[in-house]
Amino acid sequence: MTGPAPKDWILDLAPYVPGKARADGADRPVVKLSANESAYGPSPRAVAAARDAMDGLARYPDPESADLRAALGELHGLDAARILCGNGSDEPLSLLAHCFAGPGDEVIYSRYGFQLYAILAKTVGATGVAVANENWAASVDGILQAVTPRTRLIYLDNPNNPTGAMLPFSEIERLYAGLPDHVLLVLDAAYGECVDDPAYEAGARLVDRANNVVMTRTFSKMYALPALRVGWAYGPAAVMDVLNRARLPFNVSAAGQKAALAAVRDQDHLAAAVARNNEERAWLTAALAATGLDVVPSQTNFVLAGFPDAPGQTAAEAYRALMADGYILRHLPGQGLANHLRITIGTPEQNRAVAALLTAFMDGSGLAEAGEAPA
Ligand SMILES: *Cc1c(COP(=O)(O)O)cnc(C)c1O
Repeated sequence: MTGPAPKDWILDLAPYVPGKARADGADRPVVKLSANESAYGPSPRAVAAARDAMDGLARYPDPESADLRAALGELHGLDAARILCGNGSDEPLSLLAHCFAGPGDEVIYSRYGFQLYAILAKTVGATGVAVANENWAASVDGILQAVTPRTRLIYLDNPNNPTGAMLPFSEIERLYAGLPDHVLLVLDAAYGECVDDPAYEAGARLVDRANNVVMTRTFSKMYALPALRVGWAYGPAAVMDVLNRARLPFNVSAAGQKAALAAVRDQDHLAAAVARNNEERAWLTAALAATGLDVVPSQTNFVLAGFPDAPGQTAAEAYRALMADGYILRHLPGQGLANHLRITIGTPEQNRAVAALLTAFMDGSGLAEAGEAPA
């Protein structure tokens, strides 16, 4: 009666929890601000390219994503032969764990970091090592202290999700300089497009001179194509060769390849979306701070807001109150952020509505009336 047995370590794996897409009991249209989807939409040329792909559904896609890799290489000044496209950037992130870590090995990530990293470490039977953040970003000193002879991988999301904080490139270089070369440093730049701090670099320059650094990027955030699942990784030839052996043969759909290619060629659309996002990010940060919330300065398309500990003003209560009004934010108590909410930057109208609702919540003036909240 026992049936097939999975590996022991799979059984204590808690599955990834996505941002909620439906509000519990809301009677108004729902605004989803829980998954860091871009409020500004994809390039219309990308949408048209995905539609065109419907004419070719009877054929397998290009197994190498060659046109997309060439365009990415040209755009970013990278060697296209060392780019691997994947089913979202989750796929290369996952391949890295499967190819480089296993039972007895350690995988380091930040305590407040992308929740997939802990899942990937467990999936391959490795031990996840969560390092405390410093000023909400990854702690270079903390990570260096956590490295042991068993460390195989370090996942570092820069900027960080869910905090929005960023490390300057000088800190990434300091981390790299302190690492033994058996450790693979993975720089996840999912939000790289919306950084405006000049001290930032996503990491390609470091990849080019190291044998143990990989950068991952995605079309899911500022390119606004998450439904098509396209991401990519750039790394040293030896590492990319390993990932290419292990990946599935036709891993990026034809619609995904074509839409991403069109999106890469429409940098004007991307730049406009980033400009609007960053303007709204500044507005929302100031508006929330004015209500007394403790807002972490963000370099992404979301902000993390800290709530007072006082009854009636907690993050859990704010989460439920906004949910009742049809605004879905992200509460991450499982990651140790019980008194914070992560709020994706929405359209100007959505951001003003969220700010008005949270202002009413913090004033205690009652959320039932918050729709007509005082200006
Ligand atoms: C959204 C996100 C990803 C990307 O996911 P995709 O698989 O590319 O959709 C990767 N890393 C971080 C930190 C993210 O927030």
